Amino acid sequence: YYRRSWSSDSSDSVISSESGNTYYRVVLIGEHGVGKSTLASIFAGVPDTLDSDLLGVEENTYERTLMVDGESATLILLDMWENKGQDNMIQDHCMQVGDAYLIVYSITDRASFEKASELRIQLRRARQTEDIPIILVGNKSDLVRCREVSISEGRACAVVFDCKFIETSAAVQHNVKELFEGIVRQVRLRRDSKEK
Ligand code: GDP
Ligand code: MG
Repeated sequence: YYRRSWSSDSSDSVISSESGNTYYRVVLIGEHGVGKSTLASIFAGVPDTLDSDLLGVEENTYERTLMVDGESATLILLDMWENKGQDNMIQDHCMQVGDAYLIVYSITDRASFEKASELRIQLRRARQTEDIPIILVGNKSDLVRCREVSISEGRACAVVFDCKFIETSAAVQHNVKELFEGIVRQVRLRRDSKEK
């Protein structure tokens, strides 16, 4: 199903299998070094040394089924934002294919926080008519003494950009499970309000 959805029209957002399980494409975006790949590997449950081909559907793509609020959902997580492609083709593609986005910055790096705002604007422009679920993720919350962006700044930014906010630590695995459950809930909220 994955390759098919990749090549097909990206506007058919949520892919459902015959069993009724639902697939959501979640895209990680953000500055280099903020912890996107570390978050992705926790999601995938890939130990450092393991051959990640076994678990990735394809390179930089991870799939996992979660039970959230008694209902299963399969997330296809894309961590390819930083792959170099001609004319930013990969990034343009990323902006189009997500059912939901995790915009990640590091709380120890103010520039990455500012970049997150830029990305939010870019995403809004790319998907103007859609109400796409987004979580602003302040990662590296374990590095308390290097903090450059306060929690309240993160929260305020999320309010301005009309998205959810969470601080995580991929290093000590704090709030990572909550992050992925949160994105499932955000997609469902929108799905449910469409059905009404
Ligand atoms: P990416 O470029 O966004 O994919 O970032 P990476 O996942 O490659 O992480 C960049 C560096 O930050 C690596 O050395 C990670 O080990 C480290 N890192 C990632 N997440 C955390 C975190 O939550 N806390 C700390 N202390 N380091 C982290
Ligand atoms: Mg990476």
